[in-house]
Amino acid sequence: MALIVQKYGGTSVGTIDRIRNVARRLIELQNEENQVVAVISAMSGVTDKLIALAQQVMPNPPAREMDVILSTGEQQSIALLCMAITAEGYKAKSFTGAQAGVRTYGSHTRGRIENIEPKLVKSALSEGCIVVCAGFQGVDADGFIQTLGRGGSDLSAIAMAAAIKADLCQILTDVDGVYTCDPRVVPNARKIANLCYEEMLEMASSGSKVMQSRSVEFAKKFGVVFEVRNSMNNNPGTIVQEENHAMESLAVRGVSIERNQARVTLSGIDSSVAHSALILTALAQAEINVDMIVSNTAHDGIARQSFTMNMSDLGAAQATLKTILPKLGEKATMESEGGLAKLSVVGVGMRSYAGVAATMFQSLADAGIPTGMIATSEIRITTTVEAGDIEAAARAVHTAFSLDAV
Ligand code: ADP
Ligand code: ASP
Ligand code: MG
Repeated sequence: MALIVQKYGGTSVGTIDRIRNVARRLIELQNEENQVVAVISAMSGVTDKLIALAQQVMPNPPAREMDVILSTGEQQSIALLCMAITAEGYKAKSFTGAQAGVRTYGSHTRGRIENIEPKLVKSALSEGCIVVCAGFQGVDADGFIQTLGRGGSDLSAIAMAAAIKADLCQILTDVDGVYTCDPRVVPNARKIANLCYEEMLEMASSGSKVMQSRSVEFAKKFGVVFEVRNSMNNNPGTIVQEENHAMESLAVRGVSIERNQARVTLSGIDSSVAHSALILTALAQAEINVDMIVSNTAHDGIARQSFTMNMSDLGAAQATLKTILPKLGEKATMESEGGLAKLSVVGVGMRSYAGVAATMFQSLADAGIPTGMIATSEIRITTTVEAGDIEAAARAVHTAFSLDAV
């Protein structure tokens, strides 16, 4: 008998018919002599609707109350799924995050999982129930509800698999697995059979939202091997696990895109000031995440620094930086630009291949696509492009690295 955790995302439980489909799949799994724990997202669109509802009351609702309202989306879907399983004549029990023993810490709407105490989950399994847990939520040390950031049900599933020492953890979604690029953007993208945690992490954090990046970090830390696969068929998916030699045979394994990016550049900075510390501390205090950071070497005592961020943070970043501009020097000025996107190539093989950046930028040049800021890690190269160029850029780079399906 195996213990299996399966997570179903919003589209997979988006209608009553799809909830019935999930119920049948879970029952089949149990009939094959397995113990089954399902982790479920809210029906697709529900979380967005709850956010919109809250914002009708006030533009920036308190994060604590956002958690209270956001967690209701998953509470609906777990109850509906348990009803669908019961209607088929099988035993099921739903669990909110608190009931499943998910203890969180950190800020509201951005909670992190501290640990899971799955006592009630285990006893329901021993009673022969299919266990259905709400994803995306837990409770903090004071018993207050916290949600885990958008896409957070992936994290719930991986943490649950670690806590109950599941034999198998599967993330069921609306595509067959992790592709060489978002198949909605590059139609001839290919499904990747195996990825290592680092590659999945770099892809997820550079825009491939098929997995929430924090869930991948958690899987890496606790060695949870998982498979991403389709909830509408039984095709083999993508296994995400520790790195192995086969993964190094290709320099680039995936291409990610991220839209809605903005750039801010501070020029004329007096280089005798500890400007990086000043700028980045001010932004951190305003809870603004910056991503690509490029500093030019100072000439004649004058420095320049640029960084990218999400478009939604641009207004707050400009307001914050305006207040520290005088501290950066008399000649310091700020300039910014929205309407950007980021394009990344990822692969552990990049460590041992030369010329990956050359191929990437040559293919963009050949396609007539201008590039902007560049950032790299050991296994990723990222550039900004104009938002309107991002799809053509992704296709050009995908072809250049021979990733197209044949
Ligand atoms: P779920 O609701 O199941 O959590 P998501 O919408 O979060 O599903 O993730 C699945 C979507 O991720 C796909 O429909 C696809 O458009 C998008 N996606 C982005 N990048 C990739 C990629 N590299 N491979 C597969 N899907 C991707
Ligand atoms: N319902 C949440 C969201 O839409 C969590 C999830 O789907 O993973 O972000
Ligand atoms: Mg998701």
